Amino acid sequence: MTAAGCSHLECTATGERHESEELQTVSRAGAPLYARYDLAALRGRFTPSAVAARPPDLWRYREVLPVRGRPISLGEGMTPLVEAPRLASSLGLDIDLRIKDEGQNPTGSFKARGLAVAVSRAVELGARAVALPSAGNAAGAAAAYAAAAGIPAHVAMPRDTPPPIVDECRALGADVTLVDGLITDCARVVQEGARREGWFDLSTLREPYRVEGKKTMGYELVEQLGQLPDVVVYPTGGGTGLVGMWKAFAELEELGWIGPARPRMIVVQAEGCAPMVRAWREDRERAEPWQDARTSAAGLRVPRAIGDFLILRAVRESGGTAVAVSDAAMVAATALVGRTTGVYASLEGAATAAALPELASLGAVRPGDRVVLFSTGSGLTNVGPAAAGSPSTSA
Ligand SMILES: *Cc1c(COP(=O)(O)O)cnc(C)c1O
Repeated sequence: MTAAGCSHLECTATGERHESEELQTVSRAGAPLYARYDLAALRGRFTPSAVAARPPDLWRYREVLPVRGRPISLGEGMTPLVEAPRLASSLGLDIDLRIKDEGQNPTGSFKARGLAVAVSRAVELGARAVALPSAGNAAGAAAAYAAAAGIPAHVAMPRDTPPPIVDECRALGADVTLVDGLITDCARVVQEGARREGWFDLSTLREPYRVEGKKTMGYELVEQLGQLPDVVVYPTGGGTGLVGMWKAFAELEELGWIGPARPRMIVVQAEGCAPMVRAWREDRERAEPWQDARTSAAGLRVPRAIGDFLILRAVRESGGTAVAVSDAAMVAATALVGRTTGVYASLEGAATAAALPELASLGAVRPGDRVVLFSTGSGLTNVGPAAAGSPSTSA
């Protein structure tokens, strides 16, 4: 079998090569780094039938993951793709609708995917402590994988972070610093700790491997459907999952699993924090930071994303679009999704269902389409502050 691991890292802005066998953050140009693999050598050997009998977690795709040694795992990935015919018909839509139920991941959200891979890789490259600024699901996942690895996690959170999140992190052994200020102030605490104490900073797309964990959602879609869907509807904060799947589709084509067709990639954001939707409407390549971000959906409260140009490029190249929904529509959709499917979705996941009527009227979702909604977290993670909550730059 081919050895696991990537060949090198590549700057997403300039294409410049970077070494992958040492700890890396962003590229020399300040942009996210992407892991590259020798896909030509894997073609014909790393196939759906080769992985079919492997355990049902994301490590079934280890040939296209960066981790060389034994991964730190809590059973992340290979979540169910639930058929949702009554949700479609209750919205009056004649589509083949499914929900990817990411709430079944460890710690209740798909943040587990990214942090399982990032922590596994950081540890094998010599990191002895990890750190993260967060007001939500990323903190719990980072704490869990650091605990599984037996290394310290330092989590900086705004003082008004809901107590259940702080309790979760502490129960998972993390050192929690409560900061008087916003998530941007928390990021400063982490950067200072990184400089002074050598903590490895796991912030979204500021290290290369969380996106590798999240890209496995794209591999799973192909395995579970036997092909790609026509439409992917994704609740977008930092956009790691969306750009990760877009990366996965390119890899899957090189590997010979799929042809050149791609799903239309649809960004859903909250009306109170919609920098990608605004940039899309104004036909821009990058997004201006959103002032005074307000939404109860903490995963969508991301006013500025380092991967903005990658998100907008995927939407454009796929023929997708970007729409915003209100918090009230997310709450209503949580109940609609719940009673028509049995999936208890987080506000972020429910936002994708809330967007369907507008997407149908725009022609972005059409009769007969095979559509996948990403329910990125369990409804049990809905513990965020009310709609007037504080802004953040990372979830
Ligand atoms: C972090 C998060 C998001 C946003 O994910 P990105 O890939 O960073 O855009 C969406 N939903 C939930 C539940 C999250 O925790």
